[in-house]
Amino acid sequence: MISSPIDEIKSRLDIIEVISSYIKLSKTGANYRALCPFHSEKKPSFFVSPARQIWHCFGCGKGSDIFGFVKEIEGVEFGDALRILARRAGVELKPMKPESASWRTERQRLYEICELATRFFEKQLEESSSGKEAKKYLLSRGISEDSIKKWRLGYSPDTWEGLTEFLVSRGYKREEVIKVGLAIQKEPISEMMSEDLRDAYDRFRGRIIFPIFDLNSQIIGFGGRVFKEKDKAEIAKYVNTPNTLLYDKSRVLYGLDKAKVEIRKKDNCILVEGYTDVIMSHQAGVQNVVATSGTALTHYQLKILKRYSENLILGFDMDVAGDSATKRGIDLAQGQGFNIKVIRLSDGKDAADIISKNPKEWQNSLLNEKSILEFYFESAFSGRDSKTPEGKKEIAKILLPVIKRIPNKIERGYWIQKLAKELGAKEENIEEELKKVKLEGYSEVYGLEKEELENLPPKSRRELLEERLGTLVIKFPKIGTDAIDFEIIDLIGIPEIKIVLQEVKNNPNVDFGKTSIKATDVFNTLCLRAEIEEIEEKEILPEIQCCLREIRSIEIKNKLDHISKEIKKAEEEKDPKKIEKLSQEFNQLAKNINIL
Ligand SMILES: [Zn+2]
Repeated sequence: MISSPIDEIKSRLDIIEVISSYIKLSKTGANYRALCPFHSEKKPSFFVSPARQIWHCFGCGKGSDIFGFVKEIEGVEFGDALRILARRAGVELKPMKPESASWRTERQRLYEICELATRFFEKQLEESSSGKEAKKYLLSRGISEDSIKKWRLGYSPDTWEGLTEFLVSRGYKREEVIKVGLAIQKEPISEMMSEDLRDAYDRFRGRIIFPIFDLNSQIIGFGGRVFKEKDKAEIAKYVNTPNTLLYDKSRVLYGLDKAKVEIRKKDNCILVEGYTDVIMSHQAGVQNVVATSGTALTHYQLKILKRYSENLILGFDMDVAGDSATKRGIDLAQGQGFNIKVIRLSDGKDAADIISKNPKEWQNSLLNEKSILEFYFESAFSGRDSKTPEGKKEIAKILLPVIKRIPNKIERGYWIQKLAKELGAKEENIEEELKKVKLEGYSEVYGLEKEELENLPPKSRRELLEERLGTLVIKFPKIGTDAIDFEIIDLIGIPEIKIVLQEVKNNPNVDFGKTSIKATDVFNTLCLRAEIEEIEEKEILPEIQCCLREIRSIEIKNKLDHISKEIKKAEEEKDPKKIEKLSQEFNQLAKNINIL
C-alpha cells in the first residue's frame, strides 16, 4: 500500500526522466553520468542510478533522491519541490483553502497568486471590450490564437484596483499581491495602519500581458506592454515585474521552459530580443529560442543554459563598437566557453518582423549564421577606414578585447593573424597590444566558481578513507574478506560501512545488490560508487590495505594526541604514577604506528 504522497510520487516518476529534463545525461553501464550542475567541472562526476533512484556527485559530494535534486536545482524548499513533482506525477496533494494551509510555504501562495492573476488577464483578453481590442492587435501582429493560448497572453484592464481587488476577494492579502509584484503600495497615510489596510494599486494597467514562466512552466512574473498608438507616446512602453521572491530577471530566460527540450535536441540555443520574437519563432516551428527579459545575459542565465547546450546563436543586431549591455553579456558567454554564432538580420529587423512577413525567411536566415568573431570583424571593418592610422586604431580597439577573450590558443592565433593581415600590421605588434588589453567581466566568472569551490562540504580524510574502503569491499567482497582483519570494524565511524564489513565477515560471497541492508542514502551512494569504480584487479588488494593502514594510523594518532593531553594534565597534578603509566601507553602505541 502506498502510504504518502512522497512514496506515490516516487513510484510514478523515474529519476532519469526527471533529471534529464534539467541536464544532459549520458548512459554509462547501468548508470547515467553528467557534468554536475551544482559545481564547476570539466569531467563529469555526477551520477544517477536508475536502479536505486538516487543521484550523487562525486566531485562536490551532493546527492539525494528526486526531491533533493529538484530542491537543489530549483533553489526551493522541500514543500515546493514536492509540489513541482506532484504536478509532474499527476499526484494530487490535498487541496487546501488559502487560510488553512499551514504546510504551504510563502512561495507557494505567491505562485498561486501569479496563476490566478494569469487566468484573470486571460479572461480579460477574451471578454472585456478593451481586451478584445488588445487581442485584435496581437492577431494583426501575426500571433496566432494557438500561440495566445500556449503562451497564456492576457490583458490587464485599465483600472487601478481591478486585479488587486479580485485577488483579495480570493483570500490573498494585499501585502502578498504587492510582494509578488502585481500591485504597488500607495504611500501610507499613517504608520499606524496595519499592513493589510494600506492601499495598493495595480502595477499593470491597460497592457497586453506576457506571463513569465520558470523551468517548470509555473508563472513567476509578468511583462506588460502598451499597444495603443496614443499610449506608446505617453507612458512606458514596457513594464515588468520587479525582482520578487519568485522572480529575478537576472536568472530568467523567457521561453526556456518550452524550448529546453528542443535546445538539447539541436544542441544549440537561439537568443532573441523580446517576448514576441520568441513566440513568433516557436510559431514558425523554430523552438530552440529564448529571450532575456530585458537584461544583458548574466552569468546565472549562462549557467542555466549550459545545462542544455554550449552553443549560442544570437538572433538580433548589436552594436559592436558601443559598450552595450548586450556585448557585455556576449563577452561573459565567450569567457565561459560558449560557442557563439550570430544571425545577420536584414535592415535592423527583429525576428518577429521577419517571421510575420515570411516564416521561411527566418528559417533561412538561421542557415546563414556566422561565428561571433567573423561578425565582429565584419562590423568593425565596415564604416571604418583600415588604411588610415585612426581607422586602424579604432578597429583594433574593438577587436583586441574580443580576441583576447578566446580561451583556445590556436583559435586565438588564427584571429591575431587575420587582424594583422587586414590591418597591414605585424603579428608581434598585435600580440604586444593584446597584452595591454584589460578584460572586464572575466573575474566575475571565475569569482563565482571560486566561491562555489569554497562552499564545498568539508570531508575529513578519515571519512574519505572509510568510504573508499566501503566502496572497494562492496565491489569485491571476496578480496575484502581476505585482506581485512575484522577488528577494524570497531574503528569505523560511518554506520553503513560498519554494516558492510560485518556483512562481508559473515559471508564472503555476499552480493550487495541483494542484501537486506537498509538502503539508506549513504548505502545507496556507496553501491553507486562501487558500480562506477574503474579499478584493475591487481590494484584492489593494495588499495584496501592502504585504506586500512591509514585508518589505523589516524586512529593511533588520535589516541596519542589524547594521551599527550592526559600526560600534561598528570604533570600539572604532579601525579608521577599516572605519568609513568601514560608514558608507557604512549610508547607502546607509538611503536604500533611504525609497524603499520
Ligand atoms: Zn558536483
